[in-house]
Amino acid sequence: MSSPPHKPIVYIISAPSGSGKSTLVNELLKKVSDLEFSISYTTRAPRGSETNGRQYYFVSRPEFEKMIVEDEFLEYAEVFGNYYGTARRFLRAAEQKSRDLLLDIDVQGAKQIQDKVPDATSIFILPPDRRTLEERLRKRSEDSDAVIQRRLDTATREIENYKRYNYILINDQLEDSIKALRAIVRGERLERAGKPLSPEETETVALAERCRLANVRDRLRAILDSFQPPDGSGGD
Ligand code: ADP
Ligand code: 5GP
Repeated sequence: MSSPPHKPIVYIISAPSGSGKSTLVNELLKKVSDLEFSISYTTRAPRGSETNGRQYYFVSRPEFEKMIVEDEFLEYAEVFGNYYGTARRFLRAAEQKSRDLLLDIDVQGAKQIQDKVPDATSIFILPPDRRTLEERLRKRSEDSDAVIQRRLDTATREIENYKRYNYILINDQLEDSIKALRAIVRGERLERAGKPLSPEETETVALAERCRLANVRDRLRAILDSFQPPDGSGGD
């Protein structure tokens, strides 16, 4: 008798731009096996050393719109004036290859996936505070002052969506964050497998549990406060 097809675990990772998501995702993919990165389609132009088919598939607006009409996307959204979308075929491919799937998508895309794949595991990455986010955006030296300001304003709105995510990862010390992210991915696999855990596996699950929304509320409050203007007017 053949074994049942693999049901991929879908991991959604979202974060305000500059939080360190790409850095963490790259490290995670090096360290965890059987995890496929879903390469999104986008209408934005490639940046720096980005190449077609590696970070993204770079397509024109008419090409993207044709894919929408042909229902090729599991989700898509407009972010910073460009389209971004996850092709359905990545989920099918992960199933066929018996691998899990990692989606690096924004909060609008995350909502769509949560409706279609209710047991997806969602992770929201946050900077330790607004000032650190600004420093990281400047250090990356990719954007003008105006773009950095826009990213900070967008971050303020995006972080309000934290409640929709299963895990909150506060990216303070990079090495700790990499360990925590790896623990979340492994911990979900272990919990879903439902087998007795070794002491090392129990530790992994405990590390992941520390990033559960309910367990980071105090730190979260301080981060959210750092994004509010000092007069409490709430910004735009
Ligand atoms: P994102 O993908 O979320 O936009 P990046 O991964 O490009 O963010 O990170 C933004 C900048 O912050 C990069 O220069 C990166 O090297 C740096 N960075 C990421 N994580 C940390 C960290 N934990 N501590 C210090 N710098 C970090
Ligand atoms: P960037 O242009 O900086 O690479 O990405 C901008 C934003 O688009 C990030 O928040 C990233 O997570 C999001 N993004 C990338 N791919 C997709 C996708 O396929 N769908 C959605 N909804 N968002 C995406």
